[in-house]
Amino acid sequence: MAFDNKNRRIFIKHKLCRFCADPNLKIDYKEPNTLGVFTSERGKIIPRRISGNCARHQRQLALAIKRARNIALLPFTTAKIKMKEHREF
Ligand SMILES: [Zn+2]
Repeated sequence: MAFDNKNRRIFIKHKLCRFCADPNLKIDYKEPNTLGVFTSERGKIIPRRISGNCARHQRQLALAIKRARNIALLPFTTAKIKMKEHREF
């Protein structure tokens, strides 16, 4: 438990890079299950300050997620797009 200069508790949420902690965990664009953990429900990449990744691994992760998106293993977005069913021409 850490305290700030006003003696209040600061909760540190696992400020540990998962990829540094586990050397067996690989950042691979061919593994959407691993990458999917670091994307939000809408498909956005979780920022480093929340995920707790280190700079090096966050960069590798972002690159891998972008590659995975490009070959349709991960979504760019999951926002619903209203399909125009009736075209009035
Ligand atoms: Zn790391």
